[in-house]
Amino acid sequence: MPASSSPSPPGHAPPGWLEVWLEAGREGRTFTYANPSGLAIGVGDLVRVRLQGRPHTGLVVATAAACPAAMEGRSILPLDAVLESAAIDPLWQALLEVVARQCHTGLFRTLKSALPPGWLGQARRPPGQGRVLWTVRPNLAPAGEAVTPRQQELLDHLASHGGGRLLRDLVQEAGFGRSLIGTMERRGLILREAVRGPSKSGGAPGLAGGGAGAGSPRLESAQPPSPAQAAAMAAIADAPPGQSLLLWGVTGSGKTEVYLQAAARALAAGRSVLILAPEIGLIPQLLDRCRRRFGPAVIEYHSGMGDGERVVAWRRCLEAARRREPCLAVGTRSAIFLPLGQLGLIVLDEEHDASYKQESPMPCYHAREVARLRARQTGARLVLGSATPSLETWWRCQPRPHGQPADTRLLALPERIGRRPLPPVRLVDMRQELVDGHRRLISRPLMARLETLKERGEQAVVLVPRRGYRSFLSCRSCGEVVLCPHCDVALTVHRGPRAGGREGREWLRCHWCDHRQEMGDRCGHCGSTAFKPFGAGTQRVMEQLATELEGLRLIRFDRDTTRGRDGHRRLLERFAAGEADVLVGTQMLAKGMDLPRVTLAAVLAADGLLHRPDLRAAEQCLQLLLQLAGRAGRGERPGEVLVQTYSPDHPVIRHLVDGRYAAFLAEELELRRQGGMVPFGRACLLRLAGPTASGTATAAAALAERIRPAVEAAGWVVIGPAPAPVARAAGRSRWQLLLHGSPMAADGAADGAPQGDTTLPLPPEADLRRALPPGVSL
Ligand code: ADP
Ligand code: ZN
Ligand code: ZN
Repeated sequence: MPASSSPSPPGHAPPGWLEVWLEAGREGRTFTYANPSGLAIGVGDLVRVRLQGRPHTGLVVATAAACPAAMEGRSILPLDAVLESAAIDPLWQALLEVVARQCHTGLFRTLKSALPPGWLGQARRPPGQGRVLWTVRPNLAPAGEAVTPRQQELLDHLASHGGGRLLRDLVQEAGFGRSLIGTMERRGLILREAVRGPSKSGGAPGLAGGGAGAGSPRLESAQPPSPAQAAAMAAIADAPPGQSLLLWGVTGSGKTEVYLQAAARALAAGRSVLILAPEIGLIPQLLDRCRRRFGPAVIEYHSGMGDGERVVAWRRCLEAARRREPCLAVGTRSAIFLPLGQLGLIVLDEEHDASYKQESPMPCYHAREVARLRARQTGARLVLGSATPSLETWWRCQPRPHGQPADTRLLALPERIGRRPLPPVRLVDMRQELVDGHRRLISRPLMARLETLKERGEQAVVLVPRRGYRSFLSCRSCGEVVLCPHCDVALTVHRGPRAGGREGREWLRCHWCDHRQEMGDRCGHCGSTAFKPFGAGTQRVMEQLATELEGLRLIRFDRDTTRGRDGHRRLLERFAAGEADVLVGTQMLAKGMDLPRVTLAAVLAADGLLHRPDLRAAEQCLQLLLQLAGRAGRGERPGEVLVQTYSPDHPVIRHLVDGRYAAFLAEELELRRQGGMVPFGRACLLRLAGPTASGTATAAAALAERIRPAVEAAGWVVIGPAPAPVARAAGRSRWQLLLHGSPMAADGAADGAPQGDTTLPLPPEADLRRALPPGVSL
């Protein structure tokens, strides 16, 4: 099913036949419909059609003048109605086609992943279900629209209620008529927003141009930039369209201020801006800063929002694009697909963060790569910001052979604002602690530091690699570790209430599949009753701190305590307000928060982070530890970092202490070069899962033989099949094939032909999947 025919140009004969994508089944599929009444229809339109007698909303993905050969002689249903023209922009669809090709999957899967959940169903949802709020569409340009005085009154009324109004309020309290509201909705002057739960500042009056906040005294104005910031802003402004730039600056060096001023410039030039952060937890702070600068019209988009809210945010971008008005959107990974028009600037903050890569479901896209494609396609500038750039991005900043300029421009913010020094790193050798007979989780130096914390009015963050109480449970007699019955991973000991469990007891939980069970009385292997829990999770660290340092107030910050939409924000606000002295948390604690009273950042078990079976383990560990270090000493008082480890000589720890991240990258790049690893080689992992180990292994071997000829003809090799690092998860056996390819052409990346050299020598994903035995998935 070709999905790329272009919409019929205006004035042309309307198409007689359509391919319509319906969200039926896992990726949806297309169906052919006729257009007997000659409606003007093009690719990207939303239509209503019938399938098995029931109405469905579908997306037109192709049109044809003649009946498709496969449908010849069969009765073809007519479509019911056109619901919306150009719901999808051809340029946007072209982007998705490239992403689908690069991720080796189909367009429909990619569409499904890119569009907000429930997008196709939106037109079917009867209005009035849930709460419906009315708002002004973003960027209303009052001069350009002819509106009646009464319509203007309604617009003013809505604009003064930034969060939107209920229909009831408009009709009963403010006295507006339903027909007036209906007319204005049809003209696109106002928007209907379905909202679940309490309303947030969603719809709003127009986006302020930024900067001085002209006409809106409540807006914050831009900071006068430092020389380094000014140079970075100028470089972004002068960069050619489509250019990528790396903004490398330690935490607190003023990167966000650079984003905001670059955004103001793009908006003033009538171009849209997209700012991404890797985690939902970072969105509130970023959104607040954007709204303080640009007003409430800043659009929010991430998976923490309800489906209805996401559809509304999507529509606001689309409406603005149709009117050629700029918007500013802030979101996580999936926001890279927002249908913003006239993109002028894309920012990826914390660009090194692994959360930018979607691991499942397919397509396994990387938001940074999609951003590069989008920037080239639209001429937007791409700014990648980080204190610890990814190896790939740093590599792209290196000069290339034959005097060609580097693919990505490097901009540095070498100092913290106010010249606050980066905190020194102190190591605590836990082996020495043991020798000295101190067998506690919390070393003596850390203890001493925490003891004086409160009287000095300071705060600390403590990183514990795992949540829960203990890492795992093992038998003292036979050494057997208690594993999840469905996965090949150790169960984690938790303490406290759980659904169906007894209060205050310890119980076990799998962090992969969420299996939960009681802690047994004896070892399932040898029958011994002597179990020993090992390692420490956030819960146990909390308990230890509470018993050893009386009066120290603690907050636990991990996936268990930050549930819900505002979970992160609530806890951070409490901590920032001084409700606690120490924040004990997992990796999410290291990311991007600005907490001026924190003077100590401590890592309890750095070793848990160092030894992971992953190509990027060292890189990611150092990034995490440096990010954590960035939490300390952001305010007036100097900070300190304290790292407890059993491997003080590990290269990552060495570079953490000497603070020379660039030296680490250079060493790591050399290792990768020698090993022919990313970015010097290309790799693709195919993972199969099936009900039995032998069946899955056989399927994997068969798949390997099937693809081997084409893969080897292209100069690639097939490695495996081998069991996956976690060979069983959620009751399914996992096997994998690794495809390893020749280095990427050195200059392939910058010539504006992004896809050319990234295609895998593989048949399409759907074909591979079809060849698998039943029950085995890819
Ligand atoms: P980063 O994003 O690199 O962590 P921020 O942009 O958040 O850095 O800046 C750190 C702090 O310095 C913030 O409180 C910010 O308001 C302040 N700041 C940034 N730029 C300036 C400037 N040019 N003048 C004064 N303060 C600034
Ligand atoms: Zn499990
Ligand atoms: Zn045992």
